[in-house]
Amino acid sequence: MLIANTMVTGEGDEEAIVDPATGKTIETIADASEAQVAAAIGAAESAFPGWSRLAPGERAGFLLSLADRIEAEGDAFARLESKNCGKPLARVRADEIPAIVDCFRFFAGAARTMNASAAGEYMAGHTSMIRRDPLGVVGSIAPWNYPLMMLAWKICPALAAGNTVVLKPSEQTPLTALKFAEVAAEILPAGVFNLVLGRGDTVGSALVSDPRVRMVSLTGDIATGRKVLEMASRTIKRTHLELGGKAPVIVFDDADLADVVAGVRAFGYYNSGQDCTAACRVYAGPKIYEKLVADLASAVSSIRYGQPEEDVEIGPLISERQRGRVASFVERARTESHIEIVAGGRQVEGAGFFFEPTVVAGARQEDEIVQREVFGPVVSVTRFSDADQAVAWANDTDYGLASSVWTRDIGKAMAAAARLQYGCTWVNTHFALVNEMPHGGMKMSGYGKDMSVYSLEDYTVARHVMIKH
Ligand code: NAD
Repeated sequence: MLIANTMVTGEGDEEAIVDPATGKTIETIADASEAQVAAAIGAAESAFPGWSRLAPGERAGFLLSLADRIEAEGDAFARLESKNCGKPLARVRADEIPAIVDCFRFFAGAARTMNASAAGEYMAGHTSMIRRDPLGVVGSIAPWNYPLMMLAWKICPALAAGNTVVLKPSEQTPLTALKFAEVAAEILPAGVFNLVLGRGDTVGSALVSDPRVRMVSLTGDIATGRKVLEMASRTIKRTHLELGGKAPVIVFDDADLADVVAGVRAFGYYNSGQDCTAACRVYAGPKIYEKLVADLASAVSSIRYGQPEEDVEIGPLISERQRGRVASFVERARTESHIEIVAGGRQVEGAGFFFEPTVVAGARQEDEIVQREVFGPVVSVTRFSDADQAVAWANDTDYGLASSVWTRDIGKAMAAAARLQYGCTWVNTHFALVNEMPHGGMKMSGYGKDMSVYSLEDYTVARHVMIKH
């Protein structure tokens, strides 16, 4: 772990870090003790006055140095991430590392553009101004699906805005965060970034409960979000929650079928579907439905999965437990007489936590497979009768993170996009994210934005300063 720029070993329980592609233990790492979490928070608190008073351009310089180092060591970061998560190595190299480097560079620039709107006389003889100031120590808690990218999404806006951070990665995927901590210790002033490892119910909750932590940012499950909110309420902390998703994909009859099939094949199964924006809940128009199901089944059957260093498109699921969860969703769906599993549907025998890319056709709106997040390589297809029904069904879920609409009629796309209750709606694509644009949910997918200047707002507070003439 990293506390005040010193790498230290945990004093808590041992955690086995497993390679999901083989099921073998990579290494064993000890969790932080309560005293170590407290020490990390203390280090962040001590570093805050100095870091927050640096000029934005000076903080930007540090972020740019971090970006350069991650870029220079991109291959080593990619190999670690691939090993710890089972992700195809080529995809981490080509997709994740450049986006992570760009996140550091974006926030280095964005921090220098932060401003606040008012400066004027709102009471006779007084001038008011608004400042945007950092909050203090931010506790960041990350999931296992994109460990280094989630680290970047959390710490870049927090640090750029002048906060200091204590980050807890998922207990299953700490390896790239550990490597990043070594880099950060060489570049950042002591205590600005601290890393504590361990489980949520011990190390995570110690971080959330500490009154010195002014804000908690979590990416994770809805149930975890609820627990974090309850704990944070005791000390009235600001919270920033990015929770699950169940993205609807509305395909109108006039859509380009080949594009839709290629899109769902790519964006429904990327990262083995362990993605909160995965294109996993297809609603198809009455005329396109049959052909879509047939073409998608054959396209999905051709997805290459296997060992991460090989020429594969997807890898295993993160754990045996996650695979069991995915398999149980598919087994329950299979028992419904109206449902047909037209591709995949089984776990793969042998080492590693692999599950076949799966298409569940004939699913109905009320089915569990349509309503609940599976977080695996499973896409459901449901037939709708008209646009009103498609939008109503798309909105009829607890989630509100991402959605897409596929049609050649831009008016139809705009009308649907305007009515979808989702943090993001794509038209004729899905999944594409850029650091300039906000990413975050509505409803039980949480609130709080990652990326973009909106996340800088989330990690700062608007303050009023008034001067009597
Ligand atoms: P999780 O909720 O189990 O764990 C997330 C993090 O929270 C981990 O670091 C975990 O240790 C910690 N945690 C767990 N219990 C805690 C507690 N009581 N107190 C404090 N911390 C606690 O989620 P996961 O299984 O790692 O990740 C998958 C989930 O994350 C999915 O639901 C997925 O949709 C969601 N996710 C959302 C986004 C988004 O941007 N909205 C992005 C990626 C993943």
